[in-house]
Amino acid sequence: VSDSFLHKLFGRAGKATPSVEEARTDLDRLAAERPELQPIVAWLGDMLAELAPPEIPPMGLTLDPAVARARLGEGIPLLRGETLNLDPREFHRRWRRACEALEICQPDPAVATLASALQETGLKPGAMVEAVLAGRPESVMQLAEEHGLDPGLTSTVLRFTLFPTVTALANSLAPLREGAAWEEGYCPTCGSWPLLGEFRGLDQSRFLRCGLCASAWEVPRLWCPFCGNRNHERLGFFHQEGEEASYRVANCEECRGYVKMATVLSALPPLHLLVVDAVTLHLDFEAAQRGFTNPP
Ligand SMILES: [Zn+2]
Ligand SMILES: [Zn+2]
Repeated sequence: VSDSFLHKLFGRAGKATPSVEEARTDLDRLAAERPELQPIVAWLGDMLAELAPPEIPPMGLTLDPAVARARLGEGIPLLRGETLNLDPREFHRRWRRACEALEICQPDPAVATLASALQETGLKPGAMVEAVLAGRPESVMQLAEEHGLDPGLTSTVLRFTLFPTVTALANSLAPLREGAAWEEGYCPTCGSWPLLGEFRGLDQSRFLRCGLCASAWEVPRLWCPFCGNRNHERLGFFHQEGEEASYRVANCEECRGYVKMATVLSALPPLHLLVVDAVTLHLDFEAAQRGFTNPP
């Protein structure tokens, strides 16, 4: 008895919290029928505990409510021009951890190079974060190329490295957005393009979700977040057989952009956002085959 008691007591430290367990269970269940997604699903499953946002944002960043309102009123994201006081050691650790977990699931020399890039190529975390918050995600790709790294991989590892911290920060800033209109396709908090969207609840209101900070913002049902097209004849949906009730792709014939849409009862928690993105990767492949892209 005492053994199991001690085990319980000491085993608790570092154990996954309930939301992590739930996200992992959903990930396994949703990915069960898609063996081709196995490497990415294994990687995300391994990373989930690491990606959970801390309850208290690790960096103190406060915004004057009047400044926040003015920014939102002009279509400027809350974090534009702000500096994130990231702990460099923590950044390096998370970066390395994301790369190492990826290498285990899918050995690739590009990942190994990326894992040591911060030490060996002089790639600066601050410069990448600054580019993202300035609304220039393409600059991250450019920086990666200049340092001999895979641009897509670098952007993705950066996003996962920042996710828990920036998600906690966005959560703390959320009250500043209450009652403020936001009619842009990019995230009102950090300025990133949406990772995916949700048709929520009984009325199927449409929300977009940010893949960097997990913010949600409501948008019109028939509207392209990338070019603003509202012409329903130039907007469409496609889905894979049997999945229409869960996942669809909303695509735009004007700019050839697309965003994946999940039908949900209520807002996806941050980790579930990453889970749904991973288990719908087949839709990204299909969108690419049909000639649709989304911005970095
Ligand atoms: Zn965001
Ligand atoms: Zn468009």
